[in-house]
Order: sequence, then C-alpha cells, then structure tokens
Amino acid sequence: MKTAVTALDLETATTLDHALRLLRTAPRTPLAGTTDLYVELNFGTLKPRRFLDIWALDELRDISLRGDTLVIGALATFTSLIGSAAVQARLPMLVEAARLVGGIQIQNRGTLGGNIANASPAGDSLPVLAAVDAILVLQSVDSERRVPITEFYTGYRATVRREDELIVAIEVPPVEGRQYFRKVGTRAALAISKIVIAGVKGAVPRVAFGSVGPTVVRARRTEAALAAGQDIEAAVRILESEITPIDDLRSTADYRRRVAGKLLRRFWDR
Ligand SMILES: Cc1cc2nc3c(=O)[nH]c(=O)nc-3n(C[C@H](O)[C@H](O)[C@H](O)COP(=O)(O)OP(=O)(O)OC[C@H]3O[C@@H](n4cnc5c(N)ncnc54)[C@H](O)[C@@H]3O)c2cc1C
Repeated sequence: MKTAVTALDLETATTLDHALRLLRTAPRTPLAGTTDLYVELNFGTLKPRRFLDIWALDELRDISLRGDTLVIGALATFTSLIGSAAVQARLPMLVEAARLVGGIQIQNRGTLGGNIANASPAGDSLPVLAAVDAILVLQSVDSERRVPITEFYTGYRATVRREDELIVAIEVPPVEGRQYFRKVGTRAALAISKIVIAGVKGAVPRVAFGSVGPTVVRARRTEAALAAGQDIEAAVRILESEITPIDDLRSTADYRRRVAGKLLRRFWDR
C-alpha cells in the first residue's frame, strides 16, 4: 500500500445538500463505492488529494418507477441492480451487465453512478445506458440538469460534469424491443471487457459498444442501415468504419473490430 488514507483531505457528507455545499466551497473528488479510486490510491497514481465521501447518502440509493420512467439512484450498487424487480422487468440487460462486473465484493460496493462518472470506455453499464437513451441527472447546490448519456462524454475519461455537480440519478425511458447484452473478456468473472455490446431490437434498432473507442460508442450509422433494411453484412461494414478500437494490454484493435462485427451479427440474427 503506497498511500495512507490519513494523509488525504477527506470530508464525509451526511446529506445530499451537505455534499453539494461542500462541493461548491471547494473542488473535491467524490468517493462512492471507491472500487475504481482505491486502485489508483493504492498504486499512488491518484493526483487529487481532496475527497468527498458520498457513500452515506441513502437518498441516492433508491430504484423506482416514476410514471413510465425507471429512475436509478447514482449510489445503487450492482448488487442492488441485480436484486431490483423494476430493473429485472424493465432493463434485464442491465442486470446481465451487473452480474458480470468484477466479483461479488465489487458488485456490493461498485455503484452505477461511479461506473458512469469514472468514464472508462470499458465500463460495462455504459453501452447498456447508451443503447436505451438514458438521461443523467446532474445536481449542484442551486441547479439541476439532465444530460443524455450519449452527450455526457467529451473524450477519453472526460465528461461535461462540473466540479460542483454530482450525478444523482439515471433515468431510463421505456424500452421497446428485445434487449441484448454481451461482454467479451478473458474469463467470465473479474475480467475487464475486451469489448461489450448492448442493443435493442425493436421498431427502431439501437446498438452501442464499449472498448472500441475513447468513449462508449452509440453506432448510429449502423442503426440507420439496419432500420433502412440493409443486410447485416452492409451494416457490419458500416460499423467497422464507425468504431476506432486500439491495441492495449487487454486486446488488439484488429480483434476488437472483428468481434464487434460478430457481435452485431449475433444481436441481429437472434
Ligand atoms: C477488481 C475490480 C474489478 C472490476 N471489474 C469491473 C467490470 O467487470 N466492469 C466494470 O465496468 N467495472 C469494473 N471495475 C471498476 C469499478 O468497480 C466500477 O467502475 C464501479 O462501478 C465504480 O463505482 P464506485 O462507486 O466504486 O466508484 P468510485 O471508485 O467511488 O468512483 C469512480 C469515479 O466516479 C466518480 N463518482 C462516483 N460517484 C459519483 C457521483 N455520484 N457523481 C459524480 N462523480 C462520481 C468518482 O469521483 C471517481 O472519479 C472493477 C474494479 C475492480 C477493482
């Protein structure tokens, strides 16, 4: 362990309002489940030294239906997503994604808000949320705004979130069509994805990929080709031009490009 937590400047928020006031006073890195941040802390690579622990904010844990909209609190853990009847009924592919995140311990601590805010293109929930046009609710002490997840990321690990804002909830409109999720990793458990697909095959096809570019990719030109009745091979060629995978320690660009096409075929043909 390279970092002693006592050397850090840590505030613990007791309510959402308390958290937002602290963030307005001075920038602080929010700590939710800390499953991503702790890795960096442990390696001594985390630059920020001022933190705000938001784990105690129970008002951000709720999962409910508001009219037609599924509303998931940002602090909902993967375990609570898996156990939620509302998520099982409305967004089963998010349950599938949650089951494949890390192991049980990570699922118990890791939150949906943390997965989104961490902004890794390999975050497993991101393609699911992008494929269903989820909306992120960002709150500061005196404002609230709703940002489609497809507009949240501006580049690699970069988002439009302001330093005084927290993601407080994720809103998922009704999803019509068959949902499909597939994660390709080195092994079933505890593996960061090499590539992820999430799609909805309905009147309007929607498909998104993880780990094929600097941010999650909603493949809109591919969707348009499928919607227009082009055959799947034409759609695969369009997809290959729409993604920009890279070589890294988990896989190669070439492998990712080929597997993306295979996953699109499976999604479409099933
Ligand atoms: C062993 C291991 C295995 C893993 N496996 C997977 C996997 O299979 N798939 C996968 O996708 N991820 C995986 N992860 C990564 C991690 O568990 C997830 O990204 C998790 O969802 C992060 O949530 P958290 O609450 O722990 O985030 P934290 O570590 O607390 O925070 C992550 C980032 O989000 C910010 N943040 C957190 N909550 C908010 C909020 N409400 N508003 C604004 N900013 C916020 C933090 O400031 C930080 O920048 C793994 C991690 C480990 C250590």
